[in-house]
Amino acid sequence: MSDEKIYVTRPFLPPLEELLPSLERIWATRDLTNGAAFHREFEQALARYLGVPFVSLFTNATIALVTALQCLRITGEVITTPYSFVATAHSLLWNGVEPVFVDIDPHTLTLDASRVEAAITPRTTAIMPVHVYGRPADVDGLQRIADTYGLKIIYDAAHAFGARFRGRSLADYGDLSVLSFHATKVFNTFEGGAIVSRDAQTKQRIDYLKNFGFADEVTVVAAGINGKMSEFQAALGMLQLDHIDASIRQRGMVAQRYDAAFADIAGIDVLGGLEQYVPNYSYYPIFVSRDFPVSRDDLYARLRDAGIHGRRYFYPLISDFPMYRGRPSAAKSGLPTAHRIADEVICLPIYPELGVSDQQRVIDCIRTAAT
Ligand SMILES: *Cc1c(COP(=O)(O)O)cnc(C)c1O
Repeated sequence: MSDEKIYVTRPFLPPLEELLPSLERIWATRDLTNGAAFHREFEQALARYLGVPFVSLFTNATIALVTALQCLRITGEVITTPYSFVATAHSLLWNGVEPVFVDIDPHTLTLDASRVEAAITPRTTAIMPVHVYGRPADVDGLQRIADTYGLKIIYDAAHAFGARFRGRSLADYGDLSVLSFHATKVFNTFEGGAIVSRDAQTKQRIDYLKNFGFADEVTVVAAGINGKMSEFQAALGMLQLDHIDASIRQRGMVAQRYDAAFADIAGIDVLGGLEQYVPNYSYYPIFVSRDFPVSRDDLYARLRDAGIHGRRYFYPLISDFPMYRGRPSAAKSGLPTAHRIADEVICLPIYPELGVSDQQRVIDCIRTAAT
């Protein structure tokens, strides 16, 4: 038995020799950034691949979230989920916007649309839901509320690259949708991200905002930021696009083996399939309930002792971090489902190159704990 460490993810990289011609082009042209050829190519290739109207590339998804809020001039309060990566709510604080946490639905694991209405105040301007684990939020329920109350929806789609719902990319919902290409995500450019927008004017405004607000050499139209993706990242992204379908297929095989292994273990719940949903297998969360003989944290520790580094995504909840926990909406009593899920979850290793024998070590460790 191997005792090599197994991590929750291992970034996919294309063969290095495939990248060298792009590097030679960058070295020859000295075009390193500022929306040069690779940047333009990659924006178009992504829009085609995802089947979305407009893509604006960013240096990472966090700056993209901050910019998306700026683009729509979001102020006051925004309703969001405590069950996410901290960047979701941080992007609100960076805009001086008040996050209002609403509990999650036990099936979508993101904003419970039936609880959103009660959290709306005269200061509410938008909803920021997350497609958690690349699975669809309640896009219809949330859109109905947004339409009724005149709110914007900005999706944090950081997990959702390549996932499809009702024949559309998950990044194709909401007013704006933000993708992450961080090293740990399904699709990576080392660091990177994008905003998907629906019309040319909005894309134009986003593109001004990510470049200090410059409209031309002498005209600055907004207090923009520097969120531009570099040519290196864009060149890598072009290559990664050639491999993404195979990567997702391989992830799918890993997920199937886990599904089969855990089907008969009492106390380990997994996420099932959804109608009209094509997953990207970005994460493989298990939920350790009271029926399991050891606690979630004990199982997490046993895995770690066996060299298997799962992650408790998402624990603690965002609402429990010091910069959020004083808010009335952060109180535990209002977020019972989010707390239960955060206390049960472990994300298991899943990545394209995870071998069958390494995966078997993960499965055996959990099986042993179950008996
Ligand atoms: C990774 C992640 C982000 C941040 O993405 P970066 O590209 O690392 O800035 C935001 N939201 C969620 C849900 C994420 O998982």
